[in-house]
Amino acid sequence: MSRIWKWYLEKSFVSKISAGFLLGIIAGMIFGPSATVLSPFGDVFLNLLKMVVVPLVLFTIIVSVNNANPKELGRIGGKIFPYYLITTALAVFLGIAIAKLINPGMGLELPKGSTIEVPEAPALLDVLLQIIPTNIFESLTNGDILSIVFIAVITGFAVSYMRNANETHVREWSNLLLKISEAGSEVTFRILNGILQYAPIGVLGITASTIGSQGFDSLKALAKYVGASYLGVGIQMVIIFTIILWLFKIPVMKFFMNTKEAIMTAFVTSSSLGTLPITIKSAQKAGISDRVANFTLPIGATVNMNGSAIHFGVGVVFAADIVGFDLTIGAIVGIILTGTLAAVGTAGVPGAGLIGMSIVFTQAGLPIEIVGLTAGVNVLTDMIFTTCNVTGDLVGAAVVDRSERKHVSVPDEAVQEHVSNN
Ligand code: ASP
Repeated sequence: MSRIWKWYLEKSFVSKISAGFLLGIIAGMIFGPSATVLSPFGDVFLNLLKMVVVPLVLFTIIVSVNNANPKELGRIGGKIFPYYLITTALAVFLGIAIAKLINPGMGLELPKGSTIEVPEAPALLDVLLQIIPTNIFESLTNGDILSIVFIAVITGFAVSYMRNANETHVREWSNLLLKISEAGSEVTFRILNGILQYAPIGVLGITASTIGSQGFDSLKALAKYVGASYLGVGIQMVIIFTIILWLFKIPVMKFFMNTKEAIMTAFVTSSSLGTLPITIKSAQKAGISDRVANFTLPIGATVNMNGSAIHFGVGVVFAADIVGFDLTIGAIVGIILTGTLAAVGTAGVPGAGLIGMSIVFTQAGLPIEIVGLTAGVNVLTDMIFTTCNVTGDLVGAAVVDRSERKHVSVPDEAVQEHVSNN
């Protein structure tokens, strides 16, 4: 028994989840809708991943901020937010352009009746104000990532200021708090390593139930829509991200090899937030400094959605084709703006993009019944959009990290040592 376990432990994470994925496809095809009995195995995996998100974000940020200063963090924030907004706006445009070439909605009819309720788009000011928590425990229990980042950043700074206090006991407390955070971060990563051993079973459960419950009728009618979505993301991943990495002199193949675990997990889980612990681990492997990765990746998993932005672009052209809506330049500009904001507001959980798409459709004057039509294949497209969302977060972190190197001299050996220790 222990030999089999040892053999299993030695297998790479990627080969384990690939095996789970393939077995899941086979089980889903053989058992059809009955394969949904396996979905609790997938839920267990997603719940375990989400379980470590809050402590990981909290502890890793407190530790990283302790080694940074407010100026540095402000500079990182000042780079990452424009990066998120620009790449998201471009991704909406890319989705529109690809779908314009393919015309995925041609020949389809407007479905009758709708069961989708369009939520009101929250005002930007409210979203920003909500980041500051009135009750930190509520934010922690609700898993409000942006608020948790906020709490962790100010706690990290307070701890580092305490280190310079005149009173000896305050300096000791500061060291104690830092040690507790370091220990908390270490123990959470160790729990994560344990969770990853369960990943193949979880992935099998998610994939089997997804494939098994997928009606192939809707897939046939929407094949062009699914194709346009995959092509759009393919271009973003293979061309756009590669160009961005290349512009910042980051070795492209090495980057993708080091981050493949996060990229694959995003594909099989359809959740940026659930993938976040593995995204942080992959960033370490790619040599991205903790200071940048631990601060930007939780924010990215919440607000940076390049894949969801492509989703909105493709969806708008799809709907416009069906109803014969003329997409003028003015309409396209409006869609890029609302699409970008809707992507920022899209949560990193499975299916969240449908809500964002309803908002974009409503503002563009397109019938939201069509969102319901695409919902039939959303499990398939969500996988690829989430993959793009997570890759975009990692590319953003890598780019900002590279641009930070000129401010902080990080000896290469130190980075290497850090990577090999992880
Ligand atoms: N599922 C996506 C994610 O977690 C969000 C979306 O549905 O677009 O990143």
